[in-house]
Amino acid sequence: MLVAVFDIGGTNIKYGIGDSHGHILAEDVTPTGASKGGAVLVEKIEHLTKQLQQQWPITGVAISTAGSIDSAAGKVIYATQTIPGYTGMNVKKLLETRLQLPVEVENDVHCGALGELWKGVASDSQQLLFLTIGTGIGGSLALHGQIHKGASHLASAIGHMNLYPNGRLCSCGQKGCFEQYASVSRLEQKIQEIQPHQQVPAFMESVKRGDEESVNLFHEWLNDLVIGLQSLIYVWNPDSVVIGGGISAQGKWLEQEIESALFKNLLEPFKEKLVIRLAKNGNRSNLLGAIKNYELQQVRREIR
Ligand SMILES: [Zn+2]
Repeated sequence: MLVAVFDIGGTNIKYGIGDSHGHILAEDVTPTGASKGGAVLVEKIEHLTKQLQQQWPITGVAISTAGSIDSAAGKVIYATQTIPGYTGMNVKKLLETRLQLPVEVENDVHCGALGELWKGVASDSQQLLFLTIGTGIGGSLALHGQIHKGASHLASAIGHMNLYPNGRLCSCGQKGCFEQYASVSRLEQKIQEIQPHQQVPAFMESVKRGDEESVNLFHEWLNDLVIGLQSLIYVWNPDSVVIGGGISAQGKWLEQEIESALFKNLLEPFKEKLVIRLAKNGNRSNLLGAIKNYELQQVRREIR
């Protein structure tokens, strides 16, 4: 099996060719052009697939995308105004008609979880809580390898859990959401307040060196992250918490910082089977998860 695989984000589309072993055989990146809207975006995917078809004998298209997705129908249930007109689009149907190939679509955070289950740090997990920490915070819960999608495909919108009533205003219109405190964007804002122009990697280095101001700021951010994680762990009792997104590049050091801050306050029985990991596949887990989702959906359709 060879598929054209796409990871559609707000800024870039990562794409390439994937096989059923999870090998990415070719890889490239192009701007999403999100502001041009959903219709132009789908045309772009069609065009890129046709280009790939000239070189590779692909048998399908696997898509990971921003937005809440009904993966059985292949439809965008909800997307923010970052991609105008994307909400309500049946991406699967549109592309299948134009390309005459099977197409499967899933939300990018759920794809990230599937990617880490398949080829990452969560391969033994039966109760996985996956988070991406970047511009916002996304979540995915995978129970026995199956993504929990909720009643209307919106489950695990953990970025909008309330952390501080009447706190910072969020893009969703509410105040005090988790992602307004524990996202990388928030960390960047906080860094700018003490060190204009400093980037996250350099900041993390100064935390490791023990620079007092940096250490304090880091702990403020870490505490907010841990408060949110603690609530999620009490609700779901996961065996693994895996954190992806930009922050996962920080490696073992950050993994240990999060684990020790979290385990300090967590009720003892919840720690017993719990491991905390940073995602292994970085940017690739969404591509891998899209391939896995493609296979899972195709098998389901055969059974039906
Ligand atoms: Zn919110």
